[in-house]
Amino acid sequence: MLTGKDRYDLFVIGGGINGAAVACDAAGRGLAVGLAEMHDFAEGTSSRSSKLIHGGLRYLETYDFKLVRDALREREILMAKAPHLVWPLRLVLPHVPGRRPRWLIRLGLFLYDHLAARKSLSASEAVNLANHPAGAALKPEFRRGFAYSDCRGDDARLVIANLLGAQRHGADIYARHRFVSARRDADVWAIELENRLTGERISIHARALVNASGPWVIGVGQTIDGVAATRRLRLVKGSHIIVPRQWAGEHGYFLQTGDGRTMEAFPFEEDFTSIGTTDEPWEEAPEAVAIADKEIDYMLAEVNRFLRRPVARGDIVWSYAGVRPLFEVGGARDSDLSTLTRDYSFDIDQREGKAAVLTIYGGKLTTHRRLAEDAMAKLAPFLQSPRRGRTVEETLPGGDFGDGGMAGFEAVLKRDFAWLPDGQRRRYARLYGTRARALLAGVQGIQDMGTHFGAGLYEREVAFLVETEWARFAEDIIWRRTKLGLRMTATEIACLEAALTRRRER
Ligand SMILES: Cc1cc2nc3c(=O)[nH]c(=O)nc-3n(C[C@H](O)[C@H](O)[C@H](O)COP(=O)(O)OP(=O)(O)OC[C@H]3O[C@@H](n4cnc5c(N)ncnc54)[C@H](O)[C@@H]3O)c2cc1C
Repeated sequence: MLTGKDRYDLFVIGGGINGAAVACDAAGRGLAVGLAEMHDFAEGTSSRSSKLIHGGLRYLETYDFKLVRDALREREILMAKAPHLVWPLRLVLPHVPGRRPRWLIRLGLFLYDHLAARKSLSASEAVNLANHPAGAALKPEFRRGFAYSDCRGDDARLVIANLLGAQRHGADIYARHRFVSARRDADVWAIELENRLTGERISIHARALVNASGPWVIGVGQTIDGVAATRRLRLVKGSHIIVPRQWAGEHGYFLQTGDGRTMEAFPFEEDFTSIGTTDEPWEEAPEAVAIADKEIDYMLAEVNRFLRRPVARGDIVWSYAGVRPLFEVGGARDSDLSTLTRDYSFDIDQREGKAAVLTIYGGKLTTHRRLAEDAMAKLAPFLQSPRRGRTVEETLPGGDFGDGGMAGFEAVLKRDFAWLPDGQRRRYARLYGTRARALLAGVQGIQDMGTHFGAGLYEREVAFLVETEWARFAEDIIWRRTKLGLRMTATEIACLEAALTRRRER
């Protein structure tokens, strides 16, 4: 095993969910691991997903049974590893006459229920929307439907939790460092990184390299000595709109759209509803991605075909867009974008068994743990890990609630920090899990929390995020570590940015 700050067994390029998960798995095996992310963690695709931890009911239509089964298994594992970041969501699917027949939906849901073991999630059922609570928000013509179980997750926080997991096992995390190039130097990689804030260049070495740069994978691959891309990547844009909460109840809707696709709408951040997503070809640079007016029109039109109380353009409080890094399996045309596989695949390149590089193509948020395990299996001939992988059983930092579960932990927080408002306590438990104790250590009352920036964001939490989660700018805090950007005013955000600048200059 290589030792020392600048010599790693494995170096990971990209701090999205897949890079973070590989670093977490590899470090847990006792390997010396480094990871570099050029922007903020999860700033790429991994904070812009639909945030479903799901098998993907619609992938059954493309016969992607293996992907669905594996993803359903992961759903169970992730709920146990990080119950604060992955939680159940009951989805209601209104039947639309003339669209998918009821027998087909019933068959799909039967498969969905049985492709992988379910421990805590309830099975699907047919529902009469005329008297089911979920019918109240729908137009009266939707009388029949189905309800089934999936999960919701916090994509950006899952990235942070995996990075913290990697760090717990000794990994070095290079925040805001761009991977510039790598060349083979005898049996190791000589890697150059650039500090994005200072421009400083750093040289490090690693025995193996993982290119987990998502939509940037081809460009990054071109900077790795002697590695040629073997796949054509298709960037597929997907956008979401967030509006004030549209219905009571915690259920979401899985909606069949007029063009044969599907869309989801579900409660978001307690007071809001998330609506999405779209599938649009994207030919420009991944960082240039932005929601288009026609996507907004499409999503509003589709959701309003179902909802009794229409959603208006003026209701939109936030929107975001991301690109899925999908790869072609057999020359799909633009019209087939929603059917391109969401599964992942790898390329491995090595010279005489030395200085290997593994390139990751595709993947879903849901399958990140499994992807990391498979990646490590591929790299096993080049890296002799001191320990076996243990990401199935090991909780992510903050997820160690014990027998009382998250509810038990919240009760303990309530007892020990009685002064903390209910919403604040729930938010800390949901975002940080048991790490909320570290955030609140030594705090006796609200007077010890420091400056209030707005929407319940205090100086204490800001310091916690800067010191333990690599947050640097207001955007990192209000859109990725938390979603308080939904509730803070422009003036409050400017004050937060000014305070972060002052903090850095201290
Ligand atoms: C609209 C949409 C909806 C989705 N919904 C779901 C869903 O509901 N459920 C689900 O399971 N999956 C979903 N996905 C898929 C999932 O979000 C992605 O598969 C996943 O986030 C990809 O993660 P990644 O780590 O591969 O890529 P990214 O998150 O993009 O990470 C790659 C990172 O590499 C960094 N990078 C690039 N070049 C360099 C360099 N030179 N040096 C250092 N760093 C570099 C980038 O800055 C980036 O942060 C969705 C995707 C989209 C776009």
